[in-house]
Amino acid sequence: MWSTVGDELAAQIAGRHFGISGTVRRLDGERDLNYRVSTDDGSRYVLKLHHPDSDPRELDLQNEVLRHLARSSVDLAPRVVSTASGQSIAQVEWVDGIRYARLLSWLDGVPWADSPATPERMTDLGRRLAEIDVALADFAHPADRRPELAWRITAAPQIAAQAMTMAGAIDESLRPVVARVVDRYTQHTRPALRGLPEQVVHHDANEHNILLDASGSVAGIIDFGDVVRVPRITELAVACAYAMQGHDDPIGAILPLVSGYDAIAPLGVAELDVLVDLIAVRLAMSVCMSARQLADDPANTYLGISQAGVRSALITLDGLDRELGTFRLRDHVGFEANPAARSVRQYFESGRAEPAPIVAAGTRPDVTTTHYGEQVTEGISLLREVAAVPDSPVYVPLDGVVFEVGDDRVATTHRTPDGTEFWTVIHGIVPGLEPGTAVERSQSIGRTGPAGRVGVQLATHRSGLTTPVRDGDADLWRSICPDPNLLIGDPDPGSVRPRRHSEDLARLRTVNFSRAMDISYRQPLHIVRGEGAYLFDRDGNRWLDLVNNVCHVGHAHPRVTAAAHRQATVLNTNTRYLHESIVEYARRIVELMPDPLRVCFFVNSGSEANDLALRLAAAHTGSRDVLVLDHAYHGNLSSLIGLSPYKFARSGGEGPPGTTWVCELPDVYRGRLRAGRDQDLAKGYAVSVDDRLSELHAAGRSPAAFFVESLQSCGGQIVLPDGYLRQTFAAVRAAGGICVADEVQVGLGRVGSHLWGFEMQGAVPDIVTLGKPLGNGHPLAAVITTPEVARSFETGMEWFNTFGGNPVSAEVGLSVLDVLRDEGLQANAAAVGDRMLSGLRELAARHSLIGDVRGAGLFIGIELSHDDRRPAAAEAAAVKEAAKRRGVLLSTDGPDGNVLKIKPPLVLSAAGCDHFLEVFDAALGAGEFTPASP
Ligand code: PMP
Repeated sequence: MWSTVGDELAAQIAGRHFGISGTVRRLDGERDLNYRVSTDDGSRYVLKLHHPDSDPRELDLQNEVLRHLARSSVDLAPRVVSTASGQSIAQVEWVDGIRYARLLSWLDGVPWADSPATPERMTDLGRRLAEIDVALADFAHPADRRPELAWRITAAPQIAAQAMTMAGAIDESLRPVVARVVDRYTQHTRPALRGLPEQVVHHDANEHNILLDASGSVAGIIDFGDVVRVPRITELAVACAYAMQGHDDPIGAILPLVSGYDAIAPLGVAELDVLVDLIAVRLAMSVCMSARQLADDPANTYLGISQAGVRSALITLDGLDRELGTFRLRDHVGFEANPAARSVRQYFESGRAEPAPIVAAGTRPDVTTTHYGEQVTEGISLLREVAAVPDSPVYVPLDGVVFEVGDDRVATTHRTPDGTEFWTVIHGIVPGLEPGTAVERSQSIGRTGPAGRVGVQLATHRSGLTTPVRDGDADLWRSICPDPNLLIGDPDPGSVRPRRHSEDLARLRTVNFSRAMDISYRQPLHIVRGEGAYLFDRDGNRWLDLVNNVCHVGHAHPRVTAAAHRQATVLNTNTRYLHESIVEYARRIVELMPDPLRVCFFVNSGSEANDLALRLAAAHTGSRDVLVLDHAYHGNLSSLIGLSPYKFARSGGEGPPGTTWVCELPDVYRGRLRAGRDQDLAKGYAVSVDDRLSELHAAGRSPAAFFVESLQSCGGQIVLPDGYLRQTFAAVRAAGGICVADEVQVGLGRVGSHLWGFEMQGAVPDIVTLGKPLGNGHPLAAVITTPEVARSFETGMEWFNTFGGNPVSAEVGLSVLDVLRDEGLQANAAAVGDRMLSGLRELAARHSLIGDVRGAGLFIGIELSHDDRRPAAAEAAAVKEAAKRRGVLLSTDGPDGNVLKIKPPLVLSAAGCDHFLEVFDAALGAGEFTPASP
């Protein structure tokens, strides 16, 4: 009866105050009355009628938080609906007196509680909560500290004290657990919270307040009734306290939640340090609050929800080694697990420790030793064995105190000079001392057994003491038990690196590398070996590699690797000594260049080469202004991002610097002037260069250089119209600039008909930059210029590059040139390239998606298009994946990402080419991609 009256009244309030009419249904709630209001047009709202004791300033706080989120890019929270008169809170008459009413938009979704908490979902939740926290980081409100909020995590001691005094309120078995948790909070965590970042957080991400959409992704967070300014880490602690419930390994369960959060809002180490404790505090508070509130209101079933899970999670957490828990969190987000381990390793590596021998010299060289880090049946071994005389004394390597004595082992505690504790454990001995005994370096602590061998283990944390073979996370255990060879001192101990699963490699990339770094394919490949034009993955699958234009003469070419090895075993220095190799290499490069290019600089990357070219041009001309083609990429250095529209004009780019002048890309397939339709393509596109030069002139400036790739690579595998470079070079030179041909991608025989791309155009640049193919994967790049330009660079400032042109690099470069010549790879590029181009043109006749096939030698582009040459980017991405499923690796590029790039090692055979054509035909024909709607 009361509820019907309530529903009617709620409906009236919605209508009268908020102008919303609809059907009304009461929802669960802890303190306030909540109603769902559904209108005829399908809109839904939540009408909140707040408890008469509610503080209107706190309601305003909630509204302001929601408004702040609504203004941000985070679309996860309900929106505030104002009253008809523009207020966000209305005072309304309710059956028990005046209440405050608020109306919020309804969020669709099912509660987290109703779905399994998979690791993916945990990661998703972490990310979403972090997004909210990032959005709220700059939010402030006069009432945001909320000293009266009982759930405020920092109120834990008071809440626990009250609950403890209420007889029977908390189970006897839980009372000591709660007491321990709160005591630790007061002693240890609360002082640590002081320095942590604070902000307003949601503070109640429990399983009923998180909504999932139909795909299972987190789509909404509701109930902002507990928002409060606290240490930011509390938000994650609260979410973890709920998300870990029901899991046998609660810390393991929350790792993805923590790393999801960290991916968006990186966690400080001091925050990670308190997280496990704060989770325990939140669970303890839940126990206390539920006891307290249930005593006040025995009929409120909402309070009892999830208490079983809370209790068992609290008990499990209480039984865990908290520091080990924190180590796991640290390890998972990419820090070293135990932060103290560095100091221990340094004690040894710096030579300060000077450990004494553990046994007298061994007499049994035939014993097989387990190597540290080796996989042993179920886990990894954390000890090393040393051979000794049977029944001989075993010595403690450093001063310390005997910590534990087992049947056949002794653990001793030591300290580094900075006070860091660590342990040595000697296994396989007959112990001779009691725990607590102080021992001195070289003092005997027992005797070897009949086998003679003893196992040595080092530990930076007590959790490492118990067993020398551990399951699972090798990085974690390597931090807790560093290589005991630090004690033994074998100069070549045969250390073994952990074998990481592909999934772990992928995860570690995200935490220890910048996420700005990309990886190919939806399902990344774990490649372990290359040979010729093929790559092999960890499972032995073979992939035809049409992407790698770096391993020019074939992956892992034996002549190249032998050259590297041969020279590395003899000498590797810098260019400040006379050496045969670098001079021979320079001579060979000059033989490959047209006159008057004869002065070489050796560097380590295409970017370095282009950066140096920029300096040469500036030195030669006294100018800074540079012309580039639209969509060009010239390298990753600051100077070159500014010359690369491919970067500065796309996602994350900040536009061109004032000295960069972008000229039209001569794209004769999709550009302003088109092959087969327009005349004088070179001249027509060269106009753009003339225009930029005129603009420069009008501004009273003159060009330093025109940077241009001889064929456009990132720009979409574009072959320049005949005569374009000759015309533009002439114009640039006439205006006082010099011409730089970037041959980083296209040079060294790739185009087949010529050694260099600029030769296809009958042009000779003033500077040529080379990179990728020169070293077949070894970082070797070069700048070749004229004596005049080189002369201008001789200003008195020395030019030096530490690695560039060192003897190993030079020998590698020479071997690449030898292989290219001896195996006829330029001719192969011409022949196989022609075969591929004609095969592709045949396919184009059958597959309308192929808009254009172009290229030279083994530098080929396939542009996928819809009608009117509209770019088919999604299809290109899908074809790339479809080809991958059939064992062929392709990449996509171009301004719209719709050009499939083909630039394999030049050893690609006719059979490899035909295999690709078959795969490509099938990938296009299978329709395994979703064509975009017309
Ligand atoms: N120029 C061009 C045309 C390139 O394609 C690249 C690399 N993709 C570079 C320069 C930069 O070379 P690196 O990555 O070796 O620095």
